[in-house]
Amino acid sequence: MSEERKVNVGIGAAEALRALEQSLRECSRCGLCRGRTQVVFGVGSPTADLMFVGEGPGFHEDRQGEPFVGQAGKLLTELLGGIGLARGDVYITNVVKCRPPENRDPAPDEIEACRPHLMEQIAIIRPRVICTLGRFATRLLADTELSMTAVHGRAKERCLAQVDTLVFPVFHPAAALYTPANRHVLEEDFAKLGHLLARGLDAPDGAMRAEVSPAQAGDTSREQSRPPSGPAEQLPLW
Ligand code: URA
Repeated sequence: MSEERKVNVGIGAAEALRALEQSLRECSRCGLCRGRTQVVFGVGSPTADLMFVGEGPGFHEDRQGEPFVGQAGKLLTELLGGIGLARGDVYITNVVKCRPPENRDPAPDEIEACRPHLMEQIAIIRPRVICTLGRFATRLLADTELSMTAVHGRAKERCLAQVDTLVFPVFHPAAALYTPANRHVLEEDFAKLGHLLARGLDAPDGAMRAEVSPAQAGDTSREQSRPPSGPAEQLPLW
């Protein structure tokens, strides 16, 4: 793509995101609207190759209007720095855009109500890789009931909002705040993410194929995954 075309795509995506954000300011599709200070829409590059999707805003995010600005967010920023990326290089958002009371888990109806907004963000940004932070984003975007322990650090090809992308689950950074072992796992998975981006962007179609078959991984939800082809690579898909 020429530089001029990239700039035009970027302007278009930024405007589309702004319009979507504006349209959600007064959203009342679910009960979370009653307890929020504001909708926490998302932040980062409108044309990011890498998108992060967490669970939902916490106290600080609700106050500041930006995802991942508390302790878990600090760790996310550090993990990004470890692979040479800044927050502005990626796009960061959540499964639900309004803070669940007392930081409880988002309920299924709340996730469902917010899903179209996330899908619109994906359609606009067209990320090559979506890194899901924790089980809620992973369940929703990788369409799996497998545990995080089973799937973290492995990519899955998905077509979401008509965008062919790789979903790459990692543990939620909050899980590492008090458990150093989880931090180590996250660092390892981020290193893989760095490789995935570098390799995936050079050779998007066919460079990264299954090392672990769906049967081996025990996952039966394959409807939207493309069949494996090409050489097996070091980064396992599932
Ligand atoms: N945890 C999340 O899942 N999202 C945030 O934005 C902050 C903490």
